[in-house]
Order: sequence, then C-alpha cells, then structure tokens
Amino acid sequence: MNSIHLMPDALANKIAAGEVVERPASVVKELMENSMDAGSTSIKIDLKEAGLELIRVTDNGKGMEKQDAEKAFERHATSKIQNEHDLFHVRTLGFRGEALASIAAVSKLRIQTSTGETSGTSLYMEGGSVKEQTISDARKGTDIKVEELFFNTPARLKYMKTIHTELGHITDVVNRMALAHPSVKIQLDHQGKTIFQSSGRGDQLQVLAQIYGNQVAKAMKKVSAESKDFRLNAYIGKPEITRASRQYMSLIVNGRYIRNHKLTQAILKGYDTLLPIGKYPVVVINISMDPVLVDVNVHPAKLEVRFSKEQELFELIQETIRDAFRRETLIPSAPTRPTKGKEEEKTEQTSLLFENKTKEKEPERTAPSKVKPDYRAEQIDVAKQQEEQPLYVEENIKRPSEEAPVKKNETVHRRVPMLYPVGQLHGTYIVAQNEQGMYMIDQHAAQERIKYEQFKKKMGNPENEVQELLVPLTFTFRAKTAMKIEENKLPLEKVGLFFESFGTNTFIVRSHPRWFPEGYESEVIEEIVEQLEQQNKVGIEDLRDDAAALMSCKGSIKANHYLTMNDMEVLLRDLSDAEDPFTCPHGRPILIFFSQYDIEKMFKRVMN
Ligand code: ADP
Ligand code: MG
Repeated sequence: MNSIHLMPDALANKIAAGEVVERPASVVKELMENSMDAGSTSIKIDLKEAGLELIRVTDNGKGMEKQDAEKAFERHATSKIQNEHDLFHVRTLGFRGEALASIAAVSKLRIQTSTGETSGTSLYMEGGSVKEQTISDARKGTDIKVEELFFNTPARLKYMKTIHTELGHITDVVNRMALAHPSVKIQLDHQGKTIFQSSGRGDQLQVLAQIYGNQVAKAMKKVSAESKDFRLNAYIGKPEITRASRQYMSLIVNGRYIRNHKLTQAILKGYDTLLPIGKYPVVVINISMDPVLVDVNVHPAKLEVRFSKEQELFELIQETIRDAFRRETLIPSAPTRPTKGKEEEKTEQTSLLFENKTKEKEPERTAPSKVKPDYRAEQIDVAKQQEEQPLYVEENIKRPSEEAPVKKNETVHRRVPMLYPVGQLHGTYIVAQNEQGMYMIDQHAAQERIKYEQFKKKMGNPENEVQELLVPLTFTFRAKTAMKIEENKLPLEKVGLFFESFGTNTFIVRSHPRWFPEGYESEVIEEIVEQLEQQNKVGIEDLRDDAAALMSCKGSIKANHYLTMNDMEVLLRDLSDAEDPFTCPHGRPILIFFSQYDIEKMFKRVMN
C-alpha cells in the first residue's frame, strides 16, 4: 500500500507559516520588508489588538500588476531571485518567496495594489484561498490588511502572550526597521493612536533619538572604519548610558537588522572594562559589505546570518570601539541639574560636599569672570588645554619616577587633569580640587585601576616560563567540557597549560605559566577553560586582562581606610598617569566632577 503522498498546497503553506509567522510581529516584519524592497519612501502600519485583530501595512512602493499580485501568494513565488547565483548576491530583504503565502495561509487577507499606471487590483483571501477579486483605484503602492491572524490555527493563537507583550515585539521590529532605514518615513498606529513615527530624513541619529530619547542620542559618538572587506558606520553610546539588557545593541548588515552572538561579543570586548558587570551599551553598527560574504539563508526569519570573514569583522568592530574611547575624557559630572522631584537628593548631595574643610585652603582664584553655561563643554576644553599646556606636563615630570622622562608620549597625554587632594571623606572618597572645580574620587576604584594597569604591564611579555606546582591541581569538568579540552590540548600547551587525562572527565595540572597570579591558579585555569568553551579559542591577552583585574581587586585598599595626605597625593598622581583613569576594571566610575560653575549655581551665586 502506498502511504506517502504530496501535501496539498494549503496544508504545506500552513506548515511553512509555522516557521515564518510566529507571532503578529513576524507579519509586520515581513510586510515591512516587502514594502522596503518595493522602494517605498513611506510606510504606515495600523494595528488593532496588537495585530491579532488587524495588521495593515500601507506603502508607496512600486506596486504590482494584476498577474503578479495573484502569483505573489503562491509558495516560492518571488521576483527577487531567479537562480543560484542570485541567492549569493542578495541585496533585497526578502528572497525566499514564502512570506505572503505563509501569512495568507493563517489569516484573512486583503491586498490592494497598483503600479500607478492603470487601475489597481484587489484580492480577498481566507486561509490562502482567493474569495474575491476586484478592480481598485490606481494609487501607486500596496496596502495589505491581515485580519484575524491564526483564526485557523487555534493552537498558535493560544500561544499568544498578552497584548502588551505582542505590541512590544512589534514596536521592536518597527524600531529596528526605522533604524536600518532612516530614509524611509515610518508610522506605527495602535488602536488609532500613533505610537512611533520616524521622519524619513535619512538621519540615523535622529531616529535613535526618536527611539531611545534625546539624552541617549546626545551621548552617542559617531565612528567609522574600514577594513579590506567591510565598512563600518556606527553610533556608539558613551559608557555612562549603559542599559541592563543586550537589546540596545543593534547590528545592521547591508540594511538588514541581524542578530549575531559573535559580533555582539566584539562590541562588548571593544568596551571592555568601561562597562560595569551586567551592563550593556547602546550601539548601532551599520556594516556594508559585498553580499557574497554573508549567507542570509540560514534562518527562516532571516535574522541570523553567517559571515565568511567573521574574524576580520570581529576585530574591526572591537578595535573601532576601543579606539573611540581610548582618547576620551570620560569623567561623569555630578548631577547638579536634577529634574523636578529630585530636590531632596540635591540637598543631600550639597551637604555632603561641604563636610570637608576646604574653604581656607582654596586658592585665590575666585569665580571665573566668564561663566560658560555648559559645563560639559567646559570640561572638554579642559582636556584639550591639558594636551596643549606644557605647564601640567612639567609638574608631572617632577614626580619621582625613573621611567617618566623616557616615556615622553605617555607623560604628555594626560587624560585626567592634575588634581590636588583636599581631604578624605568617610574613609572612602578622596576630595580633590583644581581650577576647574572639585572632584570626588573613589579610592578603592582608583587603586584597582592603577594596579590593574601595573599588573597588565608586568604580564605583558608573552614568554611562557613555567612554574612547577608543589601539589598538582585536579579538575573535573562536565563531559562536554572535558571533550573540548581533549580536542584542544595543543593550543592549550601553547599557552603553557598541560592537562593530563586522569580518569573520566578529570585532569591533572602539574605546572602553569609563571605570570599566573599566585594564589589564584585554579581560578585562572577555570577561566581559560570557560573561554575555550565560549569562544572556541584560548586568547592569552584576554586571560591576562582577567587575571590582572582579579589581582588588582584583591590587592587594593578597600573603603573605610584612612589615607594620609601623602598617600592621597601619590594615588592621584598615579591615577593621572593611568591609561584609562575613568573607570575601575569592572566599569564603575572612579571620579565625579563638580565644576566651579555647578558649585556656584548650587549657592545661587550665578543664575541660570
Ligand atoms: P519575497 O519577499 O521573499 O520575494 P514574499 O512572499 O514576501 O517573498 O513576496 C512575494 C513577491 O511579491 C515579492 O517578490 C514581490 O515581487 C511581491 N511583493 C510583495 N509585497 C510587495 C509590495 N509591498 N510591493 C510590491 N511588491 C510586493
Ligand atoms: Mg518578502
């Protein structure tokens, strides 16, 4: 008896829809992609009940002739690729020819489309079969209404979350689409109310402001870079505006929003210790490249892609971000301009400020005659001055340090202005001053940073001298991890680690590279194994960074520790010598700045 037969189209489409149309947001995404591919400059989306009752997408793209409009709903029907060669040179967002067939299969759909030349075509379908066909007006563009999504797949409908959640997914899709296509005007309405709108003026920063707010947009830095195969244009958020979720990092490849774990790691590595643990930056990275180098056909919703030169791209992203912040002055300013309702915080802060006895010691310089309204701008000027004024350099070279005169470049480029200690607050913070204003320094964070950089330098030489252990270390890992180690014995030996197999999933280590911090050998080894698992490689540089952070934290002065004036002076000088003096290796801020202007404002000596 024959038991195998071909499925009827309607059933096949319904099954395919399971992959492509997961939820209302998938419909919005596919329809918007089609509108983009049709060259629209304006797209409007209307929703009812977060799209479960209605999703309507209206565009002003090129539209379709009658015949195309009918064909477009067949499975594997596309105008975008014709042969295998095209598949590897995809420049459109769609190419699989699945979306319209899938959406129609699980909804009641009406399309009205016209190329603007003759009258338009209108089709009405239920579950994918055409119920009605009429002539419509000749407005150029396409208008698709998707009603009662999942009406014939009750299981899927049950799976839908709250209106709030589904609407959230849709907003995400629309936001990303707007970011990736700043030249297209996009409007999203829910129950007749506009909830998002982009101007279509082609300014990505403006779209960023529309999505994340002005404050975030203001803290973005524009960077661009190029390698042999890739071009990057990015907006990267200053570390002071981190978020608790990874959602704020957007990757756009040739106009397509994508997800890619490896490249997200590249972003985070670029920020490195500037980010506090568990915090993520706001970033939009636009990548332009030859489509041959990216396989977009690995995910039904085309979200995941595969790069053939991923490592090159990884390094380009990481280095671009790293370089962008290397020469920046990143001291956060004290929040002296609280929004209404934060008045109490403000008084608290002010009283804290003046617990010290700085008054009599304060230098003669009184209020600056010219008060600049924007203290941030002033702060940046300071940094500039710093590079130009030899005065500070001279003061710094006086410091009793052997290598100072040799390392000229480092001495000249100071990222923190010279600071003079005034006193210590609560055994935890150093209060310091200079002409620009007052600074509070977290002594533990400052010392961690200083030590971290010292350790890193010490560990800098890649020579792999090995230290024998008196008592060998034994490690037992999960089976998967143990296999990874077996497979990677050679690269591990290259970094000076010799894992001897010792029974099931167990290894013995009898020696380790000399640079391992004493007392933390097993921690570093575990770190190496973890790195191997996550990144599939052992990178000695990263390990050194981690080890240095670990040691600097353990060895630094904690809060509630009394410092003499001399201790403070030394600490502040070392800090101004640091390469990255603004955050500790875990990303917490080291200093906070109160400009002269801010202080005078708090005392109402200046009005603004
Ligand atoms: P794909 O986008 O992968 O080609 P779809 O099922 O999404 O597949 O669309 C099928 C075809 O219908 C497209 O190739 C395109 O020619 C046409 N089409 C779909 N939406 C529009 C639109 N908004 N404007 C013009 N043509 C469209
Ligand atoms: Mg499509």
